[in-house]
Amino acid sequence: MNYPTDLQPVPASTEACPPWQREAPLGAGGTGAVFRVRRGEEVRALKWYHPNPRAQDIQAALAHLAQFPMPSSSFLWPLEVVHEASLTDFGCLMPLREGRFRSLSDLMQNRPTSASYPAMRQLLRAAAELTQAFEAIHLLNLAWCDFSTGNVFIDPATGELQLCDIDGLCPAENLKPHFHPDPRFAAPELIEGHAPPSSDSDLFTLALALFCLLVGRHPMENPQLIFPTDAPRFHPPGDSAAPSELFGESRQAAARWKALTSSLREAFQLEFSNGVPDPQSRPSTKFWLSELRKASDQLIDCPTDGFASCVDTLIASGVEATTELAPRLCPICNREILPGARLVIDRQLNKENPPSPTIVLLTPETKLYQYHFSRDGEPREIVAQAQAHPNRPRTLGLRNVGNRSWKVVLSEGTEKQVDPGFVLELTDGAVVTIGDSNCHVYSNQ
Ligand SMILES: [Zn+2]
Repeated sequence: MNYPTDLQPVPASTEACPPWQREAPLGAGGTGAVFRVRRGEEVRALKWYHPNPRAQDIQAALAHLAQFPMPSSSFLWPLEVVHEASLTDFGCLMPLREGRFRSLSDLMQNRPTSASYPAMRQLLRAAAELTQAFEAIHLLNLAWCDFSTGNVFIDPATGELQLCDIDGLCPAENLKPHFHPDPRFAAPELIEGHAPPSSDSDLFTLALALFCLLVGRHPMENPQLIFPTDAPRFHPPGDSAAPSELFGESRQAAARWKALTSSLREAFQLEFSNGVPDPQSRPSTKFWLSELRKASDQLIDCPTDGFASCVDTLIASGVEATTELAPRLCPICNREILPGARLVIDRQLNKENPPSPTIVLLTPETKLYQYHFSRDGEPREIVAQAQAHPNRPRTLGLRNVGNRSWKVVLSEGTEKQVDPGFVLELTDGAVVTIGDSNCHVYSNQ
């Protein structure tokens, strides 16, 4: 493939615009090469496609995507299809990926024994963002034909997600998708040609991707194990079992599996057994998002090695949150970890059909987002952040990092107000009103 040395594509629709100037190559793959391009102050990524017998289909798919606004903040969404002056070759402009994001493929290649693999708290956040991204494309009646971990980029420090190179999205039920599915991430009915891409096939892809992200391994490692003629069954190790050969030598991968809640582990088992032949039995995006957020809220950190795992006793209602919680055995060092302070968030917005209270275990790493307090809350907007007392590290406070004051009623009835930027010391029995939610503090202090 020869790239023009002075690549200056012009927008197909507005040829009077100044051309984009190529600045630097960013990478290359099977279908094209990506460059950083500039037009005045504007900087974008440009994917320039190799000659391809399906070029017309790819262009049509990109133009279809570009007509929609970006469906979630995780996508580096196609902005515009551009051509060379001759109109023979084409490319697609996208937002530029920030340097803090790392490819999930690269992270997994290092194997989860590597210290560079993101921590469980960040992985659960990335998993929730990935689930929301799938939910968002399904609302646009799109399906993902050729998903792979090469599309997924994570900021290891925050767990924010960016989804790149998404030209494999196509209208759902499209009988002739313009890319062949990657067998490692496609539903069996897609591989075998029984069905077109759909939200059902995407649910299988999503489960594979979530497993890779959270555990650091592909659940089957070998695609032939997952797509035989009779339904394969997936049996990861139980809590008490020794790590199976699926996890091989990787103690960290087995520990990550054990660190999940039992409902997440059961959902994966369902997906990779009954969900293989029966799309109707696959857990929905709504289920995954709810369970991933619950798991995030149930994380506690081992004081010995810092490994975070989910306390599995909080499946229940707020009533049970008031009782003493059993200690959790750390999946790495097997020592007991005692849950500390917790918050029971009672959302009152929907008085006729109130959701179950949300229970959040508080650690110095805990962040509370708008979605904790409001059904449609922005998932990336932090409202409150826990922090340890500077002189008494076992005492936690909650900093108001939102833009509205909180009303607090302490256990003895005293009322106070916590303005944005200030910290509330968490004491047993306090009730904090954040937005329209009442948050009950249960402290072990
Ligand atoms: Zn430990």
